[in-house]
Amino acid sequence: MVLDALRRLRTPRTPAAGLPPVADGEVLLETVGLTKSYAGADGELPVLSGIDLRIRAGEVVALLGKSGSGKSTLLRCLAGLVPASSGSVTYRGAPLTGANPGTAMVFQTFALLPWLTVQQNVELGLEAKGVGAAERAASARQAIDLIGLDGFESAYPKELSGGMRQRVGFARALVVEPDVLMMDEPFSALDVLTAENLRGELMELWESGQFPTRAIVVVTHNIEEAVLMADRIVVLGSRPYGMIREVFDVDLARPRDRTHPGFEALIDQVYRAMTGRQKEARAQGRATAVDKRTVANTPLPTASVDGFSGLAEMVLHRGGRCDLADLADDLGLEVDDILPQVDALDLLGFAAVSDDDLVLTETGTTYAQADVQQSKTVFARAALQVPLVKLIATSVRTRSEGPVRAGFFRDLLAHHYTSEQIDRQLETATDWGRYAELYSYDADPQEYRADEGEEHEEPPGRAGA
Ligand code: ADP
Ligand code: MG
Repeated sequence: MVLDALRRLRTPRTPAAGLPPVADGEVLLETVGLTKSYAGADGELPVLSGIDLRIRAGEVVALLGKSGSGKSTLLRCLAGLVPASSGSVTYRGAPLTGANPGTAMVFQTFALLPWLTVQQNVELGLEAKGVGAAERAASARQAIDLIGLDGFESAYPKELSGGMRQRVGFARALVVEPDVLMMDEPFSALDVLTAENLRGELMELWESGQFPTRAIVVVTHNIEEAVLMADRIVVLGSRPYGMIREVFDVDLARPRDRTHPGFEALIDQVYRAMTGRQKEARAQGRATAVDKRTVANTPLPTASVDGFSGLAEMVLHRGGRCDLADLADDLGLEVDDILPQVDALDLLGFAAVSDDDLVLTETGTTYAQADVQQSKTVFARAALQVPLVKLIATSVRTRSEGPVRAGFFRDLLAHHYTSEQIDRQLETATDWGRYAELYSYDADPQEYRADEGEEHEEPPGRAGA
């Protein structure tokens, strides 16, 4: 179907906005010293720092990193949807002053207008560019053909499956024939098979050489997806804020063959880059002495007690040590799903990453083997080494006037985190502290209080004060 559509396409495609064609290898997008900060109570909090990146004609670049590492922010900066705080972003050598005229975006959530048909949704991108109605209709039909939506022109998004909706997302972006197609986790909202199919078709189009764009930037947290798609994989690290951690050139032939030994080897290498926190961690205090930890340098990973406890048990069953990549594979999980749990076990002193393996510590082994009550005790001791948990636990115990407003901790955290990050920090700290029976949390007045179960340890008179 796709190849048929291709034959009907006019070729070669001209670049957006009537600009002269660029040869493969020429730089289309460039960031130099790009930094992006969001407002916090103490001023600007960096989300991206010192990003030097070039996107060249003819290449597919994957931005890979854990959740929160700044991938979407970087993509938005490249697209000119958010301004850089410092440093520069240029398109064909010209600094961006607003939306990048050479890019079009595909979103994870499709972002279609429900009251418009497929055809109308696709035309939307052209309307913004002031293209006349007849030309709009013709171009939209071509893009619809190209992306395998033939026959769905007059359907409304709600009538379509997720995969078909994302095809509309692709068609809407491709119809403007942008120099660079930007995709933010375009397959993450789809089931595995649909994602596989759509990704395969997209890459088939790209490899056919008749794709109406000159480069692709794809954001993903899925290593295999990055290796399947990209010529270059840019791994972003998130501690303390988004920076380029490592860049991999992918020299594998297209179409990519999962059974090629180089494929698996590269996945392992990239996996190591994403899990090997050694360099950043040592610089940043993750691996520093517990007494050097602060609320600022020791963020809690977004991991529930159930999640990391399950992981610890899984490792225990495998003899206390196992290969992270194999483990994720066996669980049918993506890196993004498992790394926060790994971070949690590491932070709590229950496990450590050594080479590619996750290894339980002595305490971690005790924790994983213990019954519920015992595990709570072991966990409470470990959780008190985590600054935010300790801060909340100490605050609710020392405040004789009773519960402590969540706002109190928000204000403290606002010096180091953005409000989104604060939400996540408090959510995790609440989950951990509750399980450890260090404190309880009441969502209605948004207050933390000492856990009832621990009342007997409180100084007398606290309850009545
Ligand atoms: P990723 O796409 O890798 O998951 P994001 O770029 O979405 O990461 O976010 C990076 C960090 O920046 C996160 O900690 C997030 O909370 C923060 N962030 C993103 N957008 C905003 C915003 N508009 N205001 C404040 N903080 C933000
Ligand atoms: Mg994102």
